[in-house]
Amino acid sequence: MGIEIKNIYKRFGSLTVVNGVSVDIADGEFFVMLGPSGCGKTTTLRMVAGLETASEGQIFINGRDMTHAEPRHRDIAMAFQDYGLYPNMTVFQNIEFPLKIRKLAPAERRRKVEETAGRLGISDYLGRKPAQMSGGQRQRVSLARALVRNPKVFLMDEPLSNLDAKLRAVMRTEIKKLVTDLGITTIYVTHDQIEAMSMADRIAVMRKGDMVQVAPPLQVYDRPATCFVADFIGSPPMNLFKAELANNGRVVCQVQGFGDALDDAERERARAMADRHGHFAVGIRPEHLQCVAAGTPGSVEGIVELVEPLGQTTNIYLLSGDTKYVVVTDRTSLRAGDTIGVIAPGDKVRAVGLDR
Ligand code: ATP
Repeated sequence: MGIEIKNIYKRFGSLTVVNGVSVDIADGEFFVMLGPSGCGKTTTLRMVAGLETASEGQIFINGRDMTHAEPRHRDIAMAFQDYGLYPNMTVFQNIEFPLKIRKLAPAERRRKVEETAGRLGISDYLGRKPAQMSGGQRQRVSLARALVRNPKVFLMDEPLSNLDAKLRAVMRTEIKKLVTDLGITTIYVTHDQIEAMSMADRIAVMRKGDMVQVAPPLQVYDRPATCFVADFIGSPPMNLFKAELANNGRVVCQVQGFGDALDDAERERARAMADRHGHFAVGIRPEHLQCVAAGTPGSVEGIVELVEPLGQTTNIYLLSGDTKYVVVTDRTSLRAGDTIGVIAPGDKVRAVGLDR
């Protein structure tokens, strides 16, 4: 089932926390809302679930206007970070609960609980209470309970945030596979860029109640719409250099050699941004800059301030004039104080819009 969100707003008193968001989510899509704390992700999700009423705008589920429908009429399942399990019930009873409410026959309930538990790898724990299980197992029970009644839409709000890093990595692959196999339309809220990048068909990056960019993960990474997106995704984040367009069409940049590297297509984009807002930024991902010998033609002179070896890669912090930026390379013999050349390949340099 597809979900259409049409120009929804949520206001709490004088505070607007969702500011006219519109997006179409396709049937079976894994859609991730990504953004920092307080940007309005959860509120948007709760409006889709019917747990919060939109101040303005409409929400269509499977083509029907559900803006004011009760949550139980929306055929939606939800999973949260705190699992929401009933402590006094066994795992079996927890998973069975939504089927009991819908008054399914006991044999049918048992069949569905066992099938779902099998799919989530918790068949051996059906007799336990939630307190006797690890965080990862509990999260699986919570997912099983949400999925047992074959919902058409699945909403997840930071479901992995209480798990340790290793378990998160395992669970994100499992969740993605599970909902893709089941073909369930999913909206997933997170502030974790790795989760968003690895799970999403499309990411909506949110800031202050707006969806700043909605696009497939690699497009968000390669062509961030604004400096906020560029800075939020990628670690270390994209290098951003202040820039403007001179009357003769030249890009005047904080590090001039990088401004000169823009190719024709990006120069066009820069012109459009400059027409609208005057300024823009030149953005280059740290792994796209190349360190070469000082004085190499076409390179920018940089002084190494700090070398940070991380095992697989190395972060090199550089200074050109009074501008700091970072390059990610393989292992290197460079040291603080070295003077080097830095090359920005033209096809990797981006014009990035400023945030308003
Ligand atoms: P987090 O990751 O911290 O959950 P979020 O992006 O999901 O953040 P929301 O929970 O949607 O953000 O909250 C957005 C803003 O709305 C916040 O500033 C929050 O304080 C405010 N807010 C949320 N619910 C209410 C409410 N019932 N009354 C007043 N303000 C609220």
